[in-house]
Amino acid sequence: MFYFLIILFGAAFGSFFNVCIYRIPRKESIISPGSRCPRCGEKIKPVHNIPILSYILLKGKCNKCNSKIPIHYFLVEILTPVLFVFLFISLGSHFSFVFFKYLVFISFGLIIFFIDFFHYVIPDKLSLPLIALGIIFSFTPVTDISWKSSIAGAFFCFVVFLVTAYFFKVITKKDYLGGGDIKLMTAIGSFIGILGSIFTIFFSSAIAIVLLLIIKHDKHKEFPFGPFLIFGAFIYILIGRILTFLYLDLFRFIR
Ligand SMILES: [Zn+2]
Repeated sequence: MFYFLIILFGAAFGSFFNVCIYRIPRKESIISPGSRCPRCGEKIKPVHNIPILSYILLKGKCNKCNSKIPIHYFLVEILTPVLFVFLFISLGSHFSFVFFKYLVFISFGLIIFFIDFFHYVIPDKLSLPLIALGIIFSFTPVTDISWKSSIAGAFFCFVVFLVTAYFFKVITKKDYLGGGDIKLMTAIGSFIGILGSIFTIFFSSAIAIVLLLIIKHDKHKEFPFGPFLIFGAFIYILIGRILTFLYLDLFRFIR
């Protein structure tokens, strides 16, 4: 029953995240007007605005102008409930404050992931409130990391990324790590602390390097690092605790 509720809730939120992903980088209001087809401007009827189902029923096309609705709309509507359920299970299948905290993180994370992926920008409107939220959550009595760990995590990430960005800039004369990445990583630090951040930085860098080698990315072209950081942080939140313990256990075992 809980799972069903989370899936419904997640699908509805995913639908809202799509609106945010489309409108925030275009500096449009995320509340009004109602959903419209980005091509012909046709208002989307409530019947055609049911998450997941509508996409399937309309076969991924606008009802009026027949233009294709980008597949990522569908992906976000599926991914959101899947991640919400996964989070619920990974935190012991019961409702808790920590579940709520990471629900907020995953929501912001999904929106930032796709905005950075499509527009190569991480809006301050999203990253700055996220830093604040991470710290605010840590001050509540029932949280997974203390306020000291949260502030230390944010500070650690900020300094590490600022220094790395500076060195990259000096060596390559290019902004490989932008201000958006620094603020995003600071937010991640405020949510998961230093240990989680170290995991996230190594994991996302490794994935990014492997992917860049596979797709033979032209190093003169821009490439968004934000999605990798989000992906790394999600992995840490959902299964990273288990991975870290296994890793530490391995050392104990070798010794
Ligand atoms: Zn249309």
